[in-house]
Amino acid sequence: MGFGVELKKHGAEWIGQCSFHEDKTPSLVVSPKTNLWHCLGKCNVGGSTIDWVMKTKG
Ligand SMILES: [Zn+2]
Repeated sequence: MGFGVELKKHGAEWIGQCSFHEDKTPSLVVSPKTNLWHCLGKCNVGGSTIDWVMKTKG
């Protein structure tokens, strides 16, 4: 999916550590069905994989 972070399967979703804030507990939730992600931590933002790439590359 090109998220560049390690994701672990968690039910129907994947969770991992967010790249955009100092994430000690995995607060990044990715839905493989819709290709949408959401950071439940500090960022409290989400979007599509395109948004992710844009955010990563600035
Ligand atoms: Zn975050």
